[in-house]
Amino acid sequence: MISSIPKWVGDLFESALRPNAKALEISYISPQIKKIRFQGDLSKMNFEIGYANVIRVSETEYRNYSAAYYNKEKGIIDIIFHIHGNGVGSQYIDTIKTGDEIYISPPRGKKIYDPNVKQQFIFGDETCLGVASSFLPYLKKNNHQFQFYFELDGENKNVTELLGLENFTVFPKNGSFRNEKWINNLPLFKTSEWKTAGFVLIGNVKSVQTFRKVLKNNMSGKIITQGYWLEGKKGL
Ligand SMILES: Cc1cc2nc3c(=O)[nH]c(=O)nc-3n(C[C@H](O)[C@H](O)[C@H](O)COP(=O)(O)OP(=O)(O)OC[C@H]3O[C@@H](n4cnc5c(N)ncnc54)[C@H](O)[C@@H]3O)c2cc1C
Repeated sequence: MISSIPKWVGDLFESALRPNAKALEISYISPQIKKIRFQGDLSKMNFEIGYANVIRVSETEYRNYSAAYYNKEKGIIDIIFHIHGNGVGSQYIDTIKTGDEIYISPPRGKKIYDPNVKQQFIFGDETCLGVASSFLPYLKKNNHQFQFYFELDGENKNVTELLGLENFTVFPKNGSFRNEKWINNLPLFKTSEWKTAGFVLIGNVKSVQTFRKVLKNNMSGKIITQGYWLEGKKGL
């Protein structure tokens, strides 16, 4: 996905990329997790679980963020941001206050929800809290058996509960999901219950890759993956 465009291209499309959404309400789920409700014209936007909106975070930089909730009639979209402090996107989002106007693109990307898969297992980190929040109502409404695994920094360990997520297990983000042997010992692999489940792995690229490898060796269900960020890499 494109994360930056030359300034002259931005200038050329300036009118198309001008602010189109206003920050209505802001809340902090933790000091690092900022939830913003934006209002704008969503009538032509097509939302799917796993799709991302591109937000303009500087004159030339764009970053992907997912809708946690939307209401087309009211023109409302909620996004849950991880304020990690390492990049231009995070720093820009940190400065947003009520009343600010920003550019949010229509959502696009990879569909990660298959209503036909009875058992759904979802793995992610702070960047995936929005996707998880958008997933939950469908998992409940369509009577899926589901389980979330999250790797989170210590200061965010309560955010899943505060966001009203269900059936989640929170693990400390300490590199465990980069350790195949450790992953192999997870309760998930102790029974055959999840053998044919659908797996959705999102978040940190290295964790996703390692988890996928272990799942491929042990499970027969479909595995969908999408890396959301990678150490040292700008704007995935
Ligand atoms: C489809 C999709 C949906 C996404 N949805 C969301 C969402 O809803 N909420 C959300 O917060 N993020 C989401 N992300 C992730 C977000 O786009 C990335 O974290 C992005 O790199 C942030 O841009 P940045 O400018 O802050 O950092 P960048 O300039 O991209 O990166 C600079 C440095 O920061 C590091 N970095 C980037 N992200 C993190 C992080 N989370 N923790 C620690 N270090 C990091 C990079 O590794 C790099 O070293 C999504 C990504 C994708 C692909």
